[in-house]
Amino acid sequence: MSHPARADGVKTPKLHVQTRAGELRVALTLDACMGQTDGRILHTLIDHRIKATIFATARWIRNNPDAVAQLNAHPDLFRVENHGANHYAAVFNPGRVFGVRTVGDAAGLRAEVLNGAAAVESATGRKPEWFRGATAEYSGAALQEISGLGEKVAGFSVLGDGGAMFSAAYTAKTIAKAHDGDVIIAHINQPRKPAGSGVVEGILALEAKGYGFVWLDGAQPQASHARTAHR
Ligand SMILES: [Zn+2]
Repeated sequence: MSHPARADGVKTPKLHVQTRAGELRVALTLDACMGQTDGRILHTLIDHRIKATIFATARWIRNNPDAVAQLNAHPDLFRVENHGANHYAAVFNPGRVFGVRTVGDAAGLRAEVLNGAAAVESATGRKPEWFRGATAEYSGAALQEISGLGEKVAGFSVLGDGGAMFSAAYTAKTIAKAHDGDVIIAHINQPRKPAGSGVVEGILALEAKGYGFVWLDGAQPQASHARTAHR
């Protein structure tokens, strides 16, 4: 498989939330890329009153009105942020990254960001502050463009479910071993994948260890790094 974008220094920014003495806290971020809603995760969050940040695309919002209504019914638990209009990667080389179409250029990126933001605002009444592009990989120039549009890029520090491809057990183990200040990424749009039950198990394990769940307020996007240097 060829990755034409790789040569351009594609980046995967990290993100942590601020820690506080005497508290254990993580931020759970759940991408809603397209497809459906994982009720196992959504109901657990509601039953246990666990806060989460949902990165939704305009596509997912259109196709999941019942889930959006549930999110809106619990504004104390859920923040909905911007995962783009069409789930195109914020990479400027035309083509695909991990099988996902790229925005191609700055005009494509602006459409992806602004139309995604408009969909979130129209569905929730709140303008999103954070953007996470599909695949969470970005051209350097795309990162600058997104800041210019007034949105902060939401990286992460724990790859919780491997794009919903991890097994349930491995997902649970990965999430359960998060540390204070970590930002966990997982998916809430894959109800038929085993990973979703691992997400539930992992967050309940963190809750049992005394972790509190916070939104991304106050998190400072960190200097990004080339993904190849990190892995
Ligand atoms: Zn996604």
